Amino acid sequence: MRSLRASRTLAGAAALGLAVCLAASAGATPMVATAAVPVVALPALTSSRALAGMLVSPLAANVPSKGGATLAPQGTGSLTGRIIVVDPGHNGIYRKAVNRKLVAAGNGKKKACNSSGTATNAGFAEHKFNWKVAVELVAQLRARGATVVLTRPNDSGTGPCVNERAAIGNRAKADLVVSIHADGSYAAGARGFHLIISKTMVGGSTTEARSKALAVDLRSRIAKQTGMPRSTYIGKGTALSPRSDIAGLNLSKIPAVMLEAGNMRNKADVKLLTSASWRLKLAHALADGVVAALKG
Ligand SMILES: [Zn+2]
Repeated sequence: MRSLRASRTLAGAAALGLAVCLAASAGATPMVATAAVPVVALPALTSSRALAGMLVSPLAANVPSKGGATLAPQGTGSLTGRIIVVDPGHNGIYRKAVNRKLVAAGNGKKKACNSSGTATNAGFAEHKFNWKVAVELVAQLRARGATVVLTRPNDSGTGPCVNERAAIGNRAKADLVVSIHADGSYAAGARGFHLIISKTMVGGSTTEARSKALAVDLRSRIAKQTGMPRSTYIGKGTALSPRSDIAGLNLSKIPAVMLEAGNMRNKADVKLLTSASWRLKLAHALADGVVAALKG
């Protein structure tokens, strides 16, 4: 089935002038571009809908995807020559078998390939929120000159397992990884954002320190630029959560942080998380943090 699906994807992507590399891992069939082929300039995207539409592939979603979608810069600026991984957490669809599959999570731990993510009480899914923020962030990073690798190419299929998400950044020899999530806590009064960092990364202590510095920097930018308060329920007021069970961070050779942008079960947070203009502010804060982290 792979070749049929691959050729359909190839035809669709080629028609759009897209350089999408969905299969950079060993043994998989590259669908459009291999790592050795430079990405090509894409037409300007004016809205998240445009990018989402362009990246939707006809791939069925019964198996986790591999590789990521590599998107060329759309401008020059402070990120020219940089490669940034943007990881919209979770997948567009839920498959029990996929989610139950256990993969290495680093630190000797195993973890489910992916989890289904949370949602607001009204049913706005976390994966959709993550995707919407990611699309805005991708646009800003590309406008500033970065090549961006999206860990999943759309919000309609089954993206990569959590260990593969780390591998995507490692293979791309990216400069930074930003993983986007939102939380779902039912604790009374639980609201606000926090940033997760790994206590033990494959990249070692320098990578851990740079990840923490990025998280600390993003913490002030997010509070200042978006108005979302620091978490009231994680991190004891620091909005930082060092963990050892997050595969995407543990297995990364490059600095990586995971944002929990707010609590999807909290009314005040939901007001922000469901606002397109708020998500744009968040994307700005994240892009500014990436620029600052890579300066000099
Ligand atoms: Zn999540």
